[in-house]
Amino acid sequence: MVECVELLGYLNQLLKPADFNDYCPNGLQVEGCPIVSRLVTGVTASQALIEKAIEFEADAVLVHHGYFWKGESTVVTGMKRQRLRLLLQHDINLLAYHLPLDAHPLYGNNAQLAALLNICVDKERAEKGGGLLWSGILPDAFTAGDFAKYLQEKLAGRPPLHIGDQQRTISTIAWCTGGGQGLIEAACELGVDVFLTGEASEQTTHVARERGIEFFAAGHHATERGGVKALGEHLADVYNIDSQFIDIDNPV
Ligand SMILES: [Zn+2]
Repeated sequence: MVECVELLGYLNQLLKPADFNDYCPNGLQVEGCPIVSRLVTGVTASQALIEKAIEFEADAVLVHHGYFWKGESTVVTGMKRQRLRLLLQHDINLLAYHLPLDAHPLYGNNAQLAALLNICVDKERAEKGGGLLWSGILPDAFTAGDFAKYLQEKLAGRPPLHIGDQQRTISTIAWCTGGGQGLIEAACELGVDVFLTGEASEQTTHVARERGIEFFAAGHHATERGGVKALGEHLADVYNIDSQFIDIDNPV
């Protein structure tokens, strides 16, 4: 077991949230009991995840998508009340790390997605603040069509959205997990064959076609499971606590 204060200190040192201009508070979002011996990790602090955490008798929940986003209503009513009520009633700490958990060189979502897909990461770019947009080389010379199948196999079992040419041979890739579709033009500037992210917008199609890049959206949730899961396993090793990653399926 570990004191929550110590756990937070460790996470803040590891993930350096002060280096990011984020859309939500990073770190402790809801205070619970002072000692953590059981931890649940998950992508989003939805009600379903909290209910699973209660079943697991978790002292803390660690997520990538927490609460209190910039621009959201500040009142505690409805869905937000219900989520907070469950956490507070059960004395569960809610810890959330957003951008710091996308970008971390080892436990970040981008790093974990690269490991899952066996991408050879351009380390220099990643380290000098590639930040949210990483690049590298694919493990094989795929056609874009085969790469779509590879993504389906490695991720949620769902076919990704692909805008491009099935027959094209591809070898270089840039990626940003989650809702990274706004980075498609930055990816084009890197001169890569492929841009992979979680989601697409209407205009993404036109950018992909007109800039001639193979675009894949493989799911916001599916591409962001790796970071928090890896981080939870790491914390379990460091502090000898029970940690369990709980996947609440999400097709988006
Ligand atoms: Zn996300």
